[in-house]
Amino acid sequence: MKTYWQNYIDGAWCDGGAGRIDVINPGTGEKLAEQALADAGDVDRAVMAARRVHMSGDLSDLRPVERGRMVQAMGRFLLDHIDEIAPVLTLEQGKPLWEARIEVEGAARYFEYYGNQAETVEGRSIPLGKDYFDFTTYEPFGVSAQIIPWNYPVEMTARSLSAALATGNSCVIKTPELTPLSNAWFAHAAEAVGLPKGAVNILCGLGHEAGAALSAHPHVNQIVFTGSVPTGIAIATAAAQNVVPCVLELGGKSAAIVHDDADLEAFETDVRWGIYFNAGQVCSAMSRVIVHDSVHDALVERMVGVAQSLIVKPGIDQPDFGPTMGAMVSDAQRDRAVAMITAAQHEGATVATGGHKLNTPGAFLEPTILTNVTPDMTIAQSEVFGPVLSVLKFSADDEAIKIANGTPYGLVGGVFTNNLDRATSAARQLRAGQVFVNEWYAGGVETPFGGYGKSGYGREKGREALWNYVQTKNVAIKLKG
Ligand code: NAD
Repeated sequence: MKTYWQNYIDGAWCDGGAGRIDVINPGTGEKLAEQALADAGDVDRAVMAARRVHMSGDLSDLRPVERGRMVQAMGRFLLDHIDEIAPVLTLEQGKPLWEARIEVEGAARYFEYYGNQAETVEGRSIPLGKDYFDFTTYEPFGVSAQIIPWNYPVEMTARSLSAALATGNSCVIKTPELTPLSNAWFAHAAEAVGLPKGAVNILCGLGHEAGAALSAHPHVNQIVFTGSVPTGIAIATAAAQNVVPCVLELGGKSAAIVHDDADLEAFETDVRWGIYFNAGQVCSAMSRVIVHDSVHDALVERMVGVAQSLIVKPGIDQPDFGPTMGAMVSDAQRDRAVAMITAAQHEGATVATGGHKLNTPGAFLEPTILTNVTPDMTIAQSEVFGPVLSVLKFSADDEAIKIANGTPYGLVGGVFTNNLDRATSAARQLRAGQVFVNEWYAGGVETPFGGYGKSGYGREKGREALWNYVQTKNVAIKLKG
């Protein structure tokens, strides 16, 4: 493992104007490496390099199929280097090695998907009578700034970078302070596939310093942010000052409604993935289960069984897919989750299983289930961002919808039932950007994803996401005679 990792600006690896930051291995609590920290000057160099590439047309003027091939090749590059990337991702983030491999494969899939679509961004012609020829085209915004969270650093960068490049934008990526290392492979990939120098810039820096400088930079033309609500507000404010669009992918407190006719055995799999994948540090985690009174006890017993079946240990010792969970990203995040569990108990919730940190070094938390949670409790309203599931009860369908919709968020929602009418009615009523019926996390790179309410605005993934990165131009031609 390299002990010092640099930033990548204008095609060159460089130190940071703000020095270095220690990257900690959350599986042991020990220092893993040092990462260069960018300051506002570094951010400016990166933005100006991206702008130069944009103005030159070296990326935006390419025939889209050529750009698309380079984007696809970046995905293949990631797969070719998965044995290098996945361990670094595990060591910096805490997730099991097998989960890190899934993340790298997911990242590659974005490049495949958007690379394939580069040449499908077509305009239309608009009839104005015989004296005119009128058509629309879609042009890239120019410099796309992308600010990345620590929970899925590889997949989140891939999600925005692939679509931005496919549509001809140059990019500046601000990686997260806790998990910056694995993003280095995007720079290697950009070089390997022959993108112009400056088309992809990858730098780490403190949020309030480098992140703020990037989001307020006057030559940034579009911003994509994934992270917390307060930071999203700061970034949207900066974007508004420069009158540039932004996409905000923020947090959630997403709920699964489990009806009395649901397949409770199948739901065990939904619990396993929904709240314990990546130790619950997933924006669209199933952090609430709203279950019908009549099946509450039976479901809780099954869910406790799932939680207790998981082996919790350092991610690097988990090469193979199985019933395992890794560390949370940091001691601070783990301690925050423990404090929220304790506060929930004071408000009247019961710990059905888990609730404690492990008595070993590293940011480990037991898979936790809280019962007797009511909708007004803090734990039912606020995002834990950890392996902590809150269980609430309902007796009438309308009540379940009201509870599910009763938070400021609206990222995803789920309904579990054998009754098609019930499922479609819930899908219509849930205020969320995506609704899962009978399988949490159903969907894929192809399906649009994003929030209602405080979960943000704009959509990533799917065809929808392409339109974040382009602006419409209309050309109206007056014909002679
Ligand atoms: P965060 O908001 O603290 O940080 C996210 C990024 O923003 C980091 O790179 C950080 O350095 C940067 N940042 C911080 N302050 C900034 C500022 N003032 N200006 C510009 N940039 C700044 O979030 P986090 O703790 O890294 O991530 C966890 C949160 O992200 C959770 O709330 C989670 O739900 C959300 N999230 C959402 C999605 C999604 O797609 N909706 C995906 C992953 C995470």
